[in-house]
Amino acid sequence: MSKRDYYQVLGVPRNATEDAVKKAYRRLAMKYHPDRNPDDKEAEERFKEAKEAYEILTDAQKRAAYDQYGHAGLDAARGAGQGFSPSDAFGDIFGDVFGDIFGGGRRGGRSAVYRGADLRYELALDLEQAVAGTATEIEFQTVVECGECSGSGAARGHSPVTCDTCGGNGQVRISQGFFAVQQACPRCKGRGTIIREPCPKCSGQGRVRSSKRLAVKVPAGVDTGDRIRLAGEGEAGRNGGPPGDLYVEIVVREHPIFERDGAHLSCEVPVSFVTAALGGSVEVPTLGGQASIKVPPGTQSGRVFRLREKGVRPVRGGATGDLFCRVMVETPVELTAEQKDLLRKFEKSLADDGKRHNPRERSWLEGVKEFFGGMGS
Ligand SMILES: [Zn+2]
Ligand SMILES: [Zn+2]
Repeated sequence: MSKRDYYQVLGVPRNATEDAVKKAYRRLAMKYHPDRNPDDKEAEERFKEAKEAYEILTDAQKRAAYDQYGHAGLDAARGAGQGFSPSDAFGDIFGDVFGDIFGGGRRGGRSAVYRGADLRYELALDLEQAVAGTATEIEFQTVVECGECSGSGAARGHSPVTCDTCGGNGQVRISQGFFAVQQACPRCKGRGTIIREPCPKCSGQGRVRSSKRLAVKVPAGVDTGDRIRLAGEGEAGRNGGPPGDLYVEIVVREHPIFERDGAHLSCEVPVSFVTAALGGSVEVPTLGGQASIKVPPGTQSGRVFRLREKGVRPVRGGATGDLFCRVMVETPVELTAEQKDLLRKFEKSLADDGKRHNPRERSWLEGVKEFFGGMGS
């Protein structure tokens, strides 16, 4: 789900030097290293978290992307580096991030306004819920605007003042070799303003971690991998920037009876060998309740019966799928002496009438003969 803030992970302030970041990482790495904490899942997670934070925050480019756009900035950068794939879980955030850069994400050209990070929530559903649709409530960790300072980051009675390093532009020009590049002001981190008296609740960040509950409506027909985008329900933006989005990702649990393949469902139906031989009506389960199929006399195990439109109506439209019932003929168990005797008599009568009662046996025997013949020559 939502990832922790890298600075929080390492316990360093947002303006920490590279040295301070390295020191903090070394301290955490010593503490949580898997060699020192064998079989400790939490320590392992902490170690991974710290390592990731360290790798991002010591890479100037990645740190800048993270400072501006949070985790979503890095996801977009990754997507760009590896070639954009539409199936990428965060593919469509890509557009949003660049929309912010080019699309007037700034207010009045003064303080930098940043969109909040997008969040992902994995929602597990039963097959019945996925097929029929459902309404549920989810709870997740996010970042919301600080209520104490209404997001300004300044303590009560104070307000942010213009940064004198960049004169409030939020940008400074620096030369790098042949180029002069515009960069976020190092003093105010591109905000254009400085907070002299930070709000005690959010330490001047203007945003605080908080858990949030949200009602989610899941449409009928969703499947594993489908995503529901809840616009504006991600992390709060910075400096009055718009919030990110929340992506609810569906995972459909395995069902004890039905297997799903897109819009189609399939299941196995046990049938007694008498019914299979004589034919009859067999009850089968469907998601809409019981149904029955007519099994013709002489039905073999493994035969599939198709119930049209008893599958899933896909969420994106299209034909409703079918239900495929595979008949499994059951061999009777726990027979009494009398029943065994009847079966022996029954078998003898099969042998005596000169008819072929086992349709697969002859072709099977011929196959076996051919197989051994082929081996001999
Ligand atoms: Zn605050
Ligand atoms: Zn500045």
